[in-house]
Amino acid sequence: MNLDEAKLIFGISQFRGNQEHIIQHILSGQDALVLMPTGMGKSLCYQIPAITLPGICIVISPLIALMKDQVAALQRKGVSAEYINSSLGKAERTERYTKLKSGDYKILYVSPERFQKKEFLDALSGLAVSLLAIDEAHCISQWGHDFRPDYTKISWFREILGYPVAVALTATASKHVQEDIVSQLVITKEKIKIFDDGLFRPNLKLSVVDCFDSEAKYKVILDDLNHTHGATIIYFSLIQELEKFSHWLDTKQKRHFVYHGKLSPTHRNKIQSSFLKSEEGILLATNAFGMGIDKPNIRNVYHAQIPGSIESYYQEIGRAGRDGDPSDCKLYYQQEDLTVQMEFIEWQNPDRTYLKKLFGTLLQKQNELSGLDYETLQGYMSFKNKGDHRIQTALSLLASKGLISGELEKGTLQIESEWSDSFFSEAELLEKKKENQKRLYQTVLYTKTETCRREFIHNYFDSEFKECGNCDLCEKKV
Ligand code: ADP
Ligand code: MG
Repeated sequence: MNLDEAKLIFGISQFRGNQEHIIQHILSGQDALVLMPTGMGKSLCYQIPAITLPGICIVISPLIALMKDQVAALQRKGVSAEYINSSLGKAERTERYTKLKSGDYKILYVSPERFQKKEFLDALSGLAVSLLAIDEAHCISQWGHDFRPDYTKISWFREILGYPVAVALTATASKHVQEDIVSQLVITKEKIKIFDDGLFRPNLKLSVVDCFDSEAKYKVILDDLNHTHGATIIYFSLIQELEKFSHWLDTKQKRHFVYHGKLSPTHRNKIQSSFLKSEEGILLATNAFGMGIDKPNIRNVYHAQIPGSIESYYQEIGRAGRDGDPSDCKLYYQQEDLTVQMEFIEWQNPDRTYLKKLFGTLLQKQNELSGLDYETLQGYMSFKNKGDHRIQTALSLLASKGLISGELEKGTLQIESEWSDSFFSEAELLEKKKENQKRLYQTVLYTKTETCRREFIHNYFDSEFKECGNCDLCEKKV
């Protein structure tokens, strides 16, 4: 197959950025590290080589929730793609292993944990693997924002697969993270080439609007909505605040959609598909919205409340303007919203005393765990604040140390081991909390910078900065 035929299959008229160079590079049997903004088209960089090369392509991704859609999109194009992850039932998984073994797949998506399963390794053993793609490759690095311990075994995966050509892809990798990726992935540094398409698509205009109080903020957002066109997402940190704004918009007869984690999945799906189809829709959403959505013509991404880190801000504004047309990314900064994020940090970082207390409670109620729900457990922990969400974080911390297993919601929670203070170091827990605080502080600095918004974000990610010309501060300079 030549590249023109491949373009036809994927329905694209021309390549973007470095896509073509990357594809040629991989097809010539060389490794690559691909840095490309979110939504620009990293997937094609391995999908086209995958269908061109003789063997199978294994794609490692941490985003289990997205695999189904990614695979469905490929299948619609006639590519024999599949995924295997923990969301499948045993029968389905076994069937896919069998098909994998008999060479039915051209592209297979798996999470890194899959390599711990003997059945998977068995199914792979006789296969010719042409390409290993590591999506979201920043997860390899402790210095990245989303470190996944299983990602550090990548070089071992590569060995198991018989050293196929490897391509690692990410939207955000500081120099430090890039070095980590390269050193964990390859045997000799000289063999890998780094393709850097920068952090941002230039069509995104970045700006910050200082707001004295929420009344002023509401007014300025409405004013902006009245002077703009196209689909718009307005992000909120708190559902409560989102609803308040929604009621206020109702009084102004401004039509909009609402999307957050408290709505039923059916309702959420309905809202999502209405918004995805709309040209002019306004969507008020929490960060529950957006993962994996692929709407090219989102004209505005507004943040009505400050997000907790530059990483999440960058991720969320990356949903704007994927079609390349001018798009607005505005952050409405109101100082009071900081307290919301500060509370989140408290919830996300329970101390050892809390973890011990929770474990003690679970131990005491050992016989009723299957019927236990979240509210009851919260009641046992007797905290005044209804909005205290520490239990969720604490449960996953306990699970990460093997103290418990299963899930509260599914009634499968179980005690696995005895408590020991040595499981959790106070210093480490504190360190993580401080890290979260630093990230929030950097986000505040972003709103305060006086030079250039893009430059600030590039510096933050330690990425080479070339030019901006499309932020509120640069606009003032000319
Ligand atoms: P990301 O870089 O975030 O992984 P994706 O690979 O998911 O981005 O691609 C985002 C969207 O861009 C997809 O809908 C994809 O089909 C589209 N796309 C990728 N490359 C091109 C191109 N050269 N021309 C047109 N659309 C493209
Ligand atoms: Mg991607």
